[in-house]
Parts: sequence; C-alpha cells; structure tokens
Amino acid sequence: MLDWIIIGGGIQGITVASYLVGSKKVTIDNLMIIDPHDEPLTNWKVCTRKINMPFLRSPFIHHIDVDPFSLQKFVRKKRHEETAFYGRYKRPNLEIFNEHCEEVIQTNRLKECWSKGYVTDISKEGIHWIVQVNHSQQVKSRNVILALGLSEQPKWPGWAKTLKEHNEAQVFHIFDETLESLHTIKPPVTVVGGGITAVHTALHLAQIFPGEVTLLKRHPFRLFDFDSNPGWLGPKYMRAFHHTTDFKERRQMIVQARNRGSITRELYVKVKTAVREKRLIIQNGQVQKADYHLGKIDLYLSEALPTLSTTTLLLTTGFDQSLPGKQLLQPLIHAQQLKCSECGYPIVNHQLQWGPNLYVAGALAELEIGPTARNVAGARKAAEAIVRGI
Ligand SMILES: Cc1cc2nc3c(=O)[nH]c(=O)nc-3n(C[C@H](O)[C@H](O)[C@H](O)COP(=O)(O)OP(=O)(O)OC[C@H]3O[C@@H](n4cnc5c(N)ncnc54)[C@H](O)[C@@H]3O)c2cc1C
Repeated sequence: MLDWIIIGGGIQGITVASYLVGSKKVTIDNLMIIDPHDEPLTNWKVCTRKINMPFLRSPFIHHIDVDPFSLQKFVRKKRHEETAFYGRYKRPNLEIFNEHCEEVIQTNRLKECWSKGYVTDISKEGIHWIVQVNHSQQVKSRNVILALGLSEQPKWPGWAKTLKEHNEAQVFHIFDETLESLHTIKPPVTVVGGGITAVHTALHLAQIFPGEVTLLKRHPFRLFDFDSNPGWLGPKYMRAFHHTTDFKERRQMIVQARNRGSITRELYVKVKTAVREKRLIIQNGQVQKADYHLGKIDLYLSEALPTLSTTTLLLTTGFDQSLPGKQLLQPLIHAQQLKCSECGYPIVNHQLQWGPNLYVAGALAELEIGPTARNVAGARKAAEAIVRGI
C-alpha cells in the first residue's frame, strides 16, 4: 500500500512530486508516479525541442523546485549566468531549465518512484484508491493526484481533419507523435497558427527551408510578454476570481485572461528579420476549405484572398481544450459523484481536493488555480496548495 500515487509525470506531476518529497511530506518509498513514458517530462521535452524554442516564456523563478531561487543558484554553481537567462524577466534558456529539472529529479530520487504504464481505471475500496495500470496490474494508495495534461490532445480544425482523410496529403499537427522531426517534411510548407508555437516553428523551418515557408495566421500579431497578466499569480486578480462562486463565470475569466495566440516582442523582431531576409512569408487569412490534388494542397481563404498552394501543411493550432483524460475520468466522476462545472472541468476545494484524498493539478485544477494553472507557475501553485493541506 502506497501513501501517494501521481498519475502523469509531466511538468505538473513532477513539480508536485518534487514539493511532496522536497518538503519531506512524503518519502519516496511511499510515492509512485505513473506515466506511459520512459522518463519524466517527456511531452515537455519533445514539444519544446521540436519547435526549437531557445528560451522559456516564463521567468527564472518558475521551475519545478521548491525554492524559487533554485534555478538561479543552479546557474551560479555552473558558472554560465551570461547565457542562462534572456531579457529583463530573466527567462531561462531551455537547455539550462531542463538540466535543472534533471538535478531536482535526481536530488529527490524521483526516478525511483517512476512506474511506466498507463492508468486505465481508478476505483475505491473502502477509504483507499485502487489504480489499475494497462488494464491489468493494480496498485493501492491512500491518496491519488491527477496530473494529466492537454499535450496529448492536439487540436485539429474541421477542414484539416477532412484534408487528412486523403492518405497521401502531407498534413500534420506540430505535436503529432508521428512527426518526429521538421527536417524530414517536404517543402514548400505552410504553418497555420499565429501564436508562440507557430512563430517558433516557422522561424525554425525558415532556417531549414529558407524562402519556402509561409506562416498563415488569421489575426495580426498580438504582442504580450506572458501567457496572462502576472497579476493572475497573486491577489491582484486572484482575489476576485476566488470570490466568484459561479464556475461558469470563472471559466469566462480564464478565457478572457489568457493572451491566446500571442507572441513576445523579441520573437516579433525575429519574424520581421526573417521576412526582410526573404526566408519567411507572412500571409493573413482564415482557411475556409482545403483540397488535395496530385501532391498539392490548396487552401481557400476568407475574404476572397488568393488561394494558397503548398506541399506540406503544419498545424500549430494548440490543444483541444476539453477535459483531459476523459476516458479515464468520466467513469470515476460518475462512480464517485465528483463535482464538475458546465465546461466539464473539476470543481475542487482550496487544497485541490476533488474528492476525499483525490487531488488535481495542472489543467484539471484551473477552476481553482486560475489562468496560470497549466503553466510552470501553475504547477508550483498546485504543489503548494496540495502540500499546504496535508
Ligand atoms: C511548446 C510549449 C512551450 C511551453 N512553454 C512554456 C513556458 O515557457 N513556461 C510555462 O510556464 N509553460 C510553458 N508551456 C505550458 C506548460 O508548462 C507545458 O505544456 C507543460 O508541459 C504541461 O505539463 P503537464 O504536466 O500538464 O502535461 P504533460 O507534459 O502532457 O504531462 C502529462 C503526463 O500525463 C501522462 N498521462 C496522461 N494520461 C495518463 C494516464 N491515463 N495514465 C498515466 N499517465 C497519463 C501523459 O502521458 C504525460 O506524460 C509550454 C507548452 C508548450 C507546448
């Protein structure tokens, strides 16, 4: 019998684990992290490496360790402070952020609690949780934390799904598992999307296939430093959020607070440079319909804009916003009568408890943590809330 099982070993699950062990609330022999990958943070590493993201968007105090200055201390120890951070918010370089994660994982011996597998069912026996892995093995625990992310549900617009029905059409979502590298795709390529992932991807492709990359976006570039105003990290905006008892209203506050489809100023400057150097083409317009014929994809755009032809289409349209882990969670919601808002997401208490000894983190915690829930900052808030309550 275990004390704690964390389902999901991404940024969220690992941050919570690091807080549980780092604050000595749990010993590693009483903790298990269940995740289908070989090692922690796989989705994070794959997604960020694929788009060639040099720096995080979030500042240096947002990382997976308990001490907010842990990353800065790590960098000082390694003596590469000049290249470790970018700009006035000291945004960490991805490589250093990942090295620091590795150190935190090692220090807390989190790989010793790692159990590779996919959770297929969660049920209750008395006051304990029975977690079924790969439809076969069962593990018993007093507490369960659900840290399932959205990274495995890429969003496909309807017209792109239809296009994909042509087997030969070169249509991918940037976060498709089947798309391992951008080096292997066939140019010319059109990147669809206008946010930070789209721009990182387009800039990366413009290096690989200069002059053969188009970034197709449906709105002017939106420039914001962060995913949401930093006021959402503290009482400035969170007080009103917590005073709002209507969860439908909380969802609206989250949607409004997110700077969706936005990019940072320095990326905007890089785009301008790539366009000036004729490595990248920017096209505005919304796809209404798409056709495939003899190796060519034709994109029909809004407002009678000329049709855009391309060989490869790369979607950077983010993730499906519906409840993550639906197949696993729906029977659990039903059996345990767990409260959900109209949007399908959990209604939890301040300690992020959804039911007795059942906790959530990340996207699943956003009706309590607010617009930052899915980010590293949100992972820290979730970990703090859970640890504070035990
Ligand atoms: C390209 C990119 C850049 C980003 N940059 C930043 C940034 O700079 N700063 C920032 O704060 N945030 C950033 N984010 C947002 C956020 O921090 C990341 O998306 C983060 O990786 C989300 O972590 P997660 O743990 O929720 O999800 P995941 O990394 O997807 O982890 C969830 C894990 O749960 C596992 N799982 C799911 N179902 C089950 C099951 N049934 N059984 C067992 N395991 C299961 C999954 O396989 C996965 O390994 C970025 C996101 C992306 C995509």
